[in-house]
Amino acid sequence: MKILIVTAEFAPYAKTGGLADATAGLSHALSEAGHDVRVLIPRYPGIRVKGARAFLYRDGESVVRLFRLTRKRDGVRVYLCYVPSLSRVKDIYAGDDRDALRFLALSEAATAFSSTINWRPDVIHCHDWHAALVPTAIKAHNICLPDKAINTPTVLTLHNMGYQGVFPMTVFAKYGYERILSVLPRSESAQEHCNFLRVGILTADALTTVSPTYAREIQTVQFGMGLEDYIVKRRQSLTGILNGVDYSSWDPRNDPYLEQHYDRPEAGEKFAIKSELCERVGLRCARDIPVIGIVSRLAEQKGIDLIVDALPDLLKETNAVFAMLGSGDPKIGKTLHALASKNPQRVAFTEGYDEELAHLIIAGSDMFVVPSRYEPCGLTQLYSLRYGTIPIVRATGGLADTVHQFDPDSGTGNGCIFRDADADGLKWAVRTAMRWYAQPDAWLKLMGNAMSADFSWHARIPEYAALYGRLIGT
Ligand code: ADP
Repeated sequence: MKILIVTAEFAPYAKTGGLADATAGLSHALSEAGHDVRVLIPRYPGIRVKGARAFLYRDGESVVRLFRLTRKRDGVRVYLCYVPSLSRVKDIYAGDDRDALRFLALSEAATAFSSTINWRPDVIHCHDWHAALVPTAIKAHNICLPDKAINTPTVLTLHNMGYQGVFPMTVFAKYGYERILSVLPRSESAQEHCNFLRVGILTADALTTVSPTYAREIQTVQFGMGLEDYIVKRRQSLTGILNGVDYSSWDPRNDPYLEQHYDRPEAGEKFAIKSELCERVGLRCARDIPVIGIVSRLAEQKGIDLIVDALPDLLKETNAVFAMLGSGDPKIGKTLHALASKNPQRVAFTEGYDEELAHLIIAGSDMFVVPSRYEPCGLTQLYSLRYGTIPIVRATGGLADTVHQFDPDSGTGNGCIFRDADADGLKWAVRTAMRWYAQPDAWLKLMGNAMSADFSWHARIPEYAALYGRLIGT
């Protein structure tokens, strides 16, 4: 099948979080399974286009450039949609109306794709609100040019209902996209603001989200973020498919960021990596002192405040040390810096985005905490499992689908899972994991269970292929 992936983020070119890893992992696995996959992303200033071939197409009144990167990446061709007036916007998200322009242009580029590069996709797979207007842009195109109508089916994947892309209706006229305004669903055009994600939910041929539990959760008020009624309306078209892991970059056997590698729970190399981590971030290190790692966006969703609230008691009661890495909300960053300076050698916090340190923390820690209030899929708990770093997670979304409570008697389970989104819930889970840690045989068994779990993308491809196949009628 010929599949066009449309997304704001795609690793390694543009990444702020899991969306980039998910779209890259999915694309590569589809390509390895024999599909012809092309990816369309915005051209951000940081991406080098030297030597890239440029294609021109008409977007309303303007002539627009689409760059094709010279090298395929893991069999996948990447195209970049260039908007000259955004060439100085350094960040992936400007956080204002310019994002509407960037992603309206991306939707138009998806529509113009087949005629511009002479490659007609069988399916267009859109990701998140950034690509949610593609079905509407296709409709506008078909009305303007009925003799060149596009009938490509569309899939919209909902990676996180917390981000919807809401803009005043005036952005369409402001940026020359009145044609899209005129074909918005009627319920939408009556509003003062346009919610890109809501439009996508109403108009895509099929919807997916990134775990079966999240697919159920988003039909409720608690998780639907105001769009639950629309999801319920379209629930027959919604499938929950877990994200996978790209084990070529996240596996202790071959992690490109690690100097030492390992493949068994009892391997001495894991302790050597733990020592390197502790030395690098300034933590106390010993075999009987567990390192608890955290790598996260600093956002309310991620429940970092639970860690902040639980830490004083955990530091008093246990000998654990905490290695934290995060970027995002500066207020949360400030609180974590204060905790670290109050507890030297026990709490380390690095603020910023650091891929290498993320690998070191996930490999070098004994436990890894993901206390999210909601988590569509979550990747860091999946990475941790492979490294024998035991995940301690809250029972929500993909965390609930992938982490199962360890039972030292039967030897089943791969982590520790708590229900209540409060400090007591987290404290209970850390204390429980500490008890297992104190029993070396149980801990080795638990690590073995974790390391043997397989969440590779390849296992997911048949589910996507079946969905695409249903849409194109094969
Ligand atoms: P989300 O997409 O909601 O941020 P996920 O768990 O799905 O959460 O994916 C997070 C991804 O971003 C992982 O690959 C994780 O390692 C990475 N990540 C998050 N914060 C940082 C950071 N500060 N530095 C490096 N990598 C980070």
